[in-house]
Amino acid sequence: MGGQERLRDYRGKRDFGRTEEPEGRTASPGSAPRFVVQIHDASTLHFDFRLQVDDVLKSWSIPKGPSDDPKDKRLAVPTEDHPLDYDEFEGVIPRGEYGGGTVIVWDHGTFEPLSHDRQGRPVDFGESLEHGHARFRLHGSKLHGEYALTRFRKGKDESWLLVKASEGRTGAQGTPDPRRARSARSGRTLAQVAAGGREG
Ligand code: MN
Repeated sequence: MGGQERLRDYRGKRDFGRTEEPEGRTASPGSAPRFVVQIHDASTLHFDFRLQVDDVLKSWSIPKGPSDDPKDKRLAVPTEDHPLDYDEFEGVIPRGEYGGGTVIVWDHGTFEPLSHDRQGRPVDFGESLEHGHARFRLHGSKLHGEYALTRFRKGKDESWLLVKASEGRTGAQGTPDPRRARSARSGRTLAQVAAGGREG
């Protein structure tokens, strides 16, 4: 299924005459896949975790946000594929529109797919997600190191867990308070973006 077809759900939910969210562009071949974690102050305050697979961002809503503490298992609920240029989206989705509320880019960067089969051979990252278990190393400005996403429930209430791998490192920070956290893109808080503060 091509990216344009994959984005049908995303586009169907939105009126691009009203929201400034992107309609979508295609991937530049050969570059490292990207990830983004957004904080989204919508009907509920949550984090959105997105990993590039081909020319879309596979997406999960994470109520508590990702944690760098391997003891934390964070619930991740899949949402519709988003366009690649969503990784730069920060702003206010108008009230009454789908996902209405403020969005900041909490962290972004690239990731290395680490999924292997039982023989230790690398497997296609998108395929490993379809099979319900994927490992990857994040290179963000806040999140670093290896994480795994694992599906534990299928069907209508499909649910996953996002967990940091133990790599013998201490000093985990957990997840910062989303109301005080600052954008990795602009340094702004949710409140500053909501108030229409200028970037930079
Ligand atoms: Mn969201």
